[in-house]
Amino acid sequence: MSCVILKPGKEKSVLRRHPWIFSGAIQTLPPCKDGDIFPVYSSSGALLGHAYFHTKNSLAGRFLNFDDEDPGQTVRSQLSKSIALRKQLMNPDTNAYRLVNAEGDGLPGLIVDQYGAVLVLQINTCGMEQLRPLIVEVLIDELHPKTLYEKSVSSARKQEGLLEKEGLLYGAAVEEVSILENGLPFLVSIPKGQKTGLFLDQREMRKKIGLLAKGKRVLNCFSYTGGFSLAALHGGAASVTSIDISKEACALSARNTPPHLILEADVFDFLRTEPLDYDLIILDPPAFAKKRVDIPAACQGYKEINRLALKKMPAHSLLLTSSCSSYIDDVLFQDLIAQASAEAKRSVRILGKHEHAFDHPISIYHPEGHYLKSLLLFIE
Ligand code: SAH
Repeated sequence: MSCVILKPGKEKSVLRRHPWIFSGAIQTLPPCKDGDIFPVYSSSGALLGHAYFHTKNSLAGRFLNFDDEDPGQTVRSQLSKSIALRKQLMNPDTNAYRLVNAEGDGLPGLIVDQYGAVLVLQINTCGMEQLRPLIVEVLIDELHPKTLYEKSVSSARKQEGLLEKEGLLYGAAVEEVSILENGLPFLVSIPKGQKTGLFLDQREMRKKIGLLAKGKRVLNCFSYTGGFSLAALHGGAASVTSIDISKEACALSARNTPPHLILEADVFDFLRTEPLDYDLIILDPPAFAKKRVDIPAACQGYKEINRLALKKMPAHSLLLTSSCSSYIDDVLFQDLIAQASAEAKRSVRILGKHEHAFDHPISIYHPEGHYLKSLLLFIE
């Protein structure tokens, strides 16, 4: 049977259950289509597990298991385990969760988000493309969704040479779904929304902002459909201003939140030109670094928005600042914020460091999965 053999010594990270194989580690790759699954052996002939492969990417292989189980069976059981984990931890005040978080759930290249009875699937790799029928079958069998919608639109897909894929896979067509997050009803636009519809990873931070907002003048930058704004208004904010560059996002924000100022504008311009007399500012930008080559420009971007905010915010104000770029790790992010603080000549203290909500688990063997970092800062 055809198999992949690694170069001597290159099995070390696999033995630590890291799910990635880079092309330089491969001794022999049989002729294959992108996405084909093979058993993988060390140079001494030990079976390391099963991975799917891409012939052109430097990230050439991703492991589905580290044993001799049939990989299809592993995918089935990982899907079931992912669903069971959410059921174990979910809270009755929320019905929108990430059910499958790629490598964090042992299913590299696969995202599944649940919005009430609607499931949204995102397949990011050729390997997962080949497993699509099995994934769809398990999701329907286990969850009986009203709708299963595919939104396979991502920069990762482009790197795999895959076209975007979007549309209804099963059940009733859907435009919008009303979900409950932290006890608050919220509309999510499925086909027209960004990513799978909602940035579920910031759920805990939205809750936190709700608890901090009482009596404060809040500025929510990169507000998307108003998640932080709703939390702040519900938490008793004195005022909230939301800013997002997307017209659709601002329009849905207006339907999702009690009346407040929503500006369709560029946050960079706003921070440069406005006085920023707010007690609490939220900076939750999109990933500035989507590829490794973007890192220097992304660093400039993070530094710039934070420096602009820090320079003008009044004394004793709070800043919640986030980065969701996996290429900017938490040490680098904190260093950028320190540089921004120094340039703004402000005394700044960290009140809290925050990460993804629990439904975005990170495999202990795959620290690269830790993409979202947030700092809650006190500005003297
Ligand atoms: N905080 C949001 C998620 C933010 S996602 C939540 O809790 O749901 C990032 C948002 O930034 C997107 O809505 C995107 O439209 C917006 N955006 C991207 N570049 C922008 C810019 N230069 N100025 C304003 N908004 C921008």
